[in-house]
Amino acid sequence: MILSERATQVRTSASLKVTAKAEKMNMSGYNVINLGTGEVNFKTPEHITAAAVEAIEKDLPKYTAVEGIPELREAVCGKIYADRGLVYEPDEVVVTNGAKQALMNTIFAVVGQSDEVIISAPYWQSYVEVVLLAGGVPVIVYTREEKGFKLTLEELNRVYTDKTKAIIINSPNNPTGALYTEKELKAIADFATEKDLIAISDEVYDKMIYSQKHKFISIASLGEEIKKRTVIVNSFSKTYSMTPWRVGCSIADKKISKAMTKIQSHCTSNVNVVSQYAALAALKGGDGCIDGLVNELKRRRDYMSQRISDIPYLRSLRPVGGLYILVNISRLYGREADGITIKSGKDIAQILLSKYNVAVVSGDVFGCQDYIRLSFAASMESIIVGVNRIEKFIKQNF
Ligand code: PLP
Repeated sequence: MILSERATQVRTSASLKVTAKAEKMNMSGYNVINLGTGEVNFKTPEHITAAAVEAIEKDLPKYTAVEGIPELREAVCGKIYADRGLVYEPDEVVVTNGAKQALMNTIFAVVGQSDEVIISAPYWQSYVEVVLLAGGVPVIVYTREEKGFKLTLEELNRVYTDKTKAIIINSPNNPTGALYTEKELKAIADFATEKDLIAISDEVYDKMIYSQKHKFISIASLGEEIKKRTVIVNSFSKTYSMTPWRVGCSIADKKISKAMTKIQSHCTSNVNVVSQYAALAALKGGDGCIDGLVNELKRRRDYMSQRISDIPYLRSLRPVGGLYILVNISRLYGREADGITIKSGKDIAQILLSKYNVAVVSGDVFGCQDYIRLSFAASMESIIVGVNRIEKFIKQNF
């Protein structure tokens, strides 16, 4: 069978691959602790599942509008107004199969052949893969740990060319946990406006911020000019513990939303109608169910962050938001463990999985090979055992 160049070039999602491997090992009796996945181990709140059951029992609409049922799109507008003070119309919302499809729709709608998209590294892997799938060129800007892994105006000016079409912003960030301030976003917004770029703002971790001191800001809220050129990508997956329901959305100007709807109409049509009613219940139910989740995630972040900083050779910034801790392992370079001379996070991830039964994601898939990524979305029990094993690995070998 001959595959297309596109299919041979695209890489599998690394975190899904790690999870599949951990599950396979567990089925063979290994007891692997999975710190690879960004999936919170919370049950979907009951009022959401109850609405889904009710929807099944009712006479459901058949195919719905590709862009989603009107009530849900209206509720998304209500939510975005309540949370960000932004006014959008329901026909500026497209309900998608998770944020992943919203991102895919966006890139396919705005990025043409050879168009460049600025992506800051460390990045979420799919940004790069989707831009490549669309025939675009990912332009990677390597941000620095000392600068909190944030993109600066100076770097943007350095990589900008007349082919630059869009810039992706992900705050809070996967995998760094960085959260952009209003001032930092304003600089990016002014740059995007001046250069006539589209801002793709992935806001899936907007609720996952762990201190009162820090506040989520959407770049779209920094003025009419930037709002018009921003596509907000969001999801029900993380906020409402709804990863398997596969519901997300994009919010953008009518013209872009219409183009995205056309694209989606040829891929998946509407999102599963039961999930759409579940998502509607999530928005109608208010944020009460999120508070407990965020408090628990903060407890896990604090614990994991403290434990990792107490382990010799490892270094990490305490993430402000998101679900991950990015751990710098470069102090182990040149040292040997398990017959391997350590030269990247990939070596560490491999030894941790094969010898210590802990699954983590190696940094190379995020464009940062000196790191490994740990998820604190796992249960507290798993985090404790997983970090104990990482500590044991360091103490036994170095
Ligand atoms: N964007 C970021 C930054 C993510 O980390 C993820 C999932 O991990 C997604 C988007 C996709 O989320 P969804 O489950 O809604 O497709």
